[in-house]
Order: sequence, then structure tokens, then C-alpha cells
Amino acid sequence: MKFQFLAPTKIIMGTDCIRENAVVLADMGKKALIVTGARSAKANGSLTDVTAALTGNGQEYAVYDKVMSNPTIPCAYDGAALAKEQGVDFVIAIGGGSPMDAAKAIAILARQDIPEEKLFSGGYSPDVLPIACIPTTAGTGSEVTQYSILSNDKAQTKSGLGSPFIFPRYAFLDAKYMMGLPRTTTINTAIDALSHSVEGMLSARAGALTDTLALDSIRGIAACFDAMQRDSLSLEQRESLLYASMLGGMVIANTGTTAVHAMGYSLTYFKNIDHGRANGLLLPSFLRYVEDRIPERIASILTAMGLDSMDGFKAALDALLGEPESLTSEEVDRFSAMAAQTKNMDNCLARPDPKDLPALYRESFGI
Ligand code: NAP
Ligand code: FE
Repeated sequence: MKFQFLAPTKIIMGTDCIRENAVVLADMGKKALIVTGARSAKANGSLTDVTAALTGNGQEYAVYDKVMSNPTIPCAYDGAALAKEQGVDFVIAIGGGSPMDAAKAIAILARQDIPEEKLFSGGYSPDVLPIACIPTTAGTGSEVTQYSILSNDKAQTKSGLGSPFIFPRYAFLDAKYMMGLPRTTTINTAIDALSHSVEGMLSARAGALTDTLALDSIRGIAACFDAMQRDSLSLEQRESLLYASMLGGMVIANTGTTAVHAMGYSLTYFKNIDHGRANGLLLPSFLRYVEDRIPERIASILTAMGLDSMDGFKAALDALLGEPESLTSEEVDRFSAMAAQTKNMDNCLARPDPKDLPALYRESFGI
């Protein structure tokens, strides 16, 4: 057997894990930039836990709480400017994928002068601020990945910046912060995590270890479908989703994402459809496409979910996601052309031809 697997983040999971392990943050530096969204970190107690931990360690901090959903490039430069002005030497992200991804870009830009047009060109130096992540959605797995996804207005899509230097040093996973997560956000983020693990199974870069993690993640998410539907997740179920989402992050850190993420980016950028929901709407048609070519991979995924057919898979996702948005033929063609050019397509084990993509969008949106 031959494989490579990278998972350099130290993961600390459990209720009250930040307060109980505050000392872990002590080696990160003297002053932190805490990167969050506008509201949730203040409301769910995570910001207070982090500031108490830092204060207890004698560390200073500044707060950048301007990260919006699907963070923009100007947001990353803005946060980096504050990091420089405040003389911080590490970054702590609290929130969903948006603050975590913004924090990773900030960690690079605070130390390296990179013009906007070269931001996604790679070749970053290792001189990056160390990062700790506290995920408060169970979806992106960004706390264990080397990716930062930013809305790119020049390219009119979401662009990914990837570097081994932005793997977070620490991830603190405490599901108590998610107890007030609204039903729609819970569903959309869990479907993003499902999509990571499913796409990891269908990646040309999949291996024995990523399969093991992906199937465990898929199992854990599917087991929560009913409670997600009823909006009645217990702390234990929130924990399972957070764990499954972290596994999904470890998977895509090694396999990359595939056609589903490639096709979903335009749905988010142009139609404002949540990232996880966009993936969920596309998953059934892509899985049917793959089933015709490599049925055994789809069979493994369905078995892990306790399902016996793709019809069951589609019905389960429809129940959670409801009716899709409407899409025009012009949008189908434009989004297909954009998806065909992404690097994610290269990861597909069964790679759709560019001319197959419009049919996948049409099937997903019932047009
Ligand atoms: P998000 O944009 O980070 O957050 C969505 C919403 O949920 C925000 O309004 C946020 O409020 C709120 N929220 C977060 N935690 C909450 C909590 N515990 N309780 C109540 N509300 C809470 O959504 P996301 O789906 O987690 O992240 C999506 C982004 O991640 C996209 O940009 C996507 O492209 C990216 N992504 C990255 C990777 C990767 O590997 N790096 C993988 C997949 C997706 P506040 O703004 O007030 O916090
Ligand atoms: Fe994703």
C-alpha cells in the first residue's frame, strides 16, 4: 500500500475545551487577532471563553469582527491591516468557515506583501502568523484544512488559496457553541460536511485512510438527519456533527473537492445560495452520474448512510433542503463553462466532460 496523508493540526475536542486547555494557547505569541463574524461569537459564549483564556495566560488581543459570509478579498486585506497596526503575532478564528477562511488569508497577508492579482497564485513563504480555529458550525472542516476560500469579484467566483503553511496549529471543538445554531444553518453546514466526505470518496486522490475517515463522517451525519429535520439535535448529536465535519475537513485536505464544489461556487456567487445548500442541491445528480461509471463507490456511500438506492439519497436530501431555486438556461450554460475550468474538476474519479455539466445542473434544478 502506498499513500501520503497530511493532518498537522492538533485537535482538542470536548465541552469547555478552551477553558480547560487555555495553556495550549500560551505558546502562540504575545498578542492575538481574534477574527469573527459580527454577532454569533459574542452570543454563543465562544468569544468570552477565548478572551478569558488569553487574559488568564497574560496575552493581549485585538478583535476583528467584520467577517461576512463568503468573505471577500478586501475583508482579508482589511483584517491584515489591523493585524499589522496592532502588532499581533498570532490569529484566533472563531465562527463558521467564513471567519476561519478569512483568518487564514489574514495570517498570510499580515506578514507577506502580496498584491491582489497574485493572491491566488501560490508560492507563499512560510512566514505566516500561527492560527488557532474554533469552529462554531459543523460544516466546512476549515479548522483542519490548508484552504481559504474567498469571494473573488474580479473572477466573479469563489477562489481558493491553498498552502500547507495555513493549516491551523490548533483546533478547539466544543459543540456547546452550536446549541443555538438555526435549523437552516445547521442543515446547510451539515450538508457541506457530507459533501466533503462524499466528494472525498469520489476523488481520484482518495485512499484507504481518507475512505475510512469519509465513511465514518458520512455515517455520523446521516444518523442525525431526522433530528436535523425536526430541529431537535442534542448536545451529543451536535458533537457527532462537529466530529464528522472535522473528519470531512481531514478528507478534503488530502483528496481535494470535486465537481460538486466546482459547480456550487457559481450558485453561491451569483444566486446567493448558501455554500452547503448549493452542494446539497447538486449532489444527487452528480452521484447518479458517478453511479453509472463506478457503482461500487456509490454503493459504499449509500450503505454508510443506511440507504439502498440513489432514490433514497435524493429523497433524504430533498426532505432537508426543500424546493430548489430557479435557474435560467443562460445561467446553466455560463455556470457550466466556469465550473469546467476549475482545478476541482481534475480531482474527479469519474470526471464529467464539460458538455455533461449543463445536464447535471438541469437535473438538479428540475429544468
Ligand atoms: P459562515 O458564513 O461562516 O456562517 C453562516 C452564518 O452562521 C453566519 O451568519 C454566522 O453568524 C452564523 N453562525 C456561525 N456560528 C453560529 C453559531 N454557533 N450560532 C449561531 N449562528 C452562527 O458559514 P459556513 O457554512 O460555516 O462557512 C461557509 C464558508 O466556508 C464559505 O465561504 C465556504 O466557501 C467556506 N468553506 C471553506 C472550506 C475550507 O476548507 N476552508 C470548506 C468548505 C467551505 P456571524 O457572522 O455572526 O458569526
Ligand atoms: Fe465546502
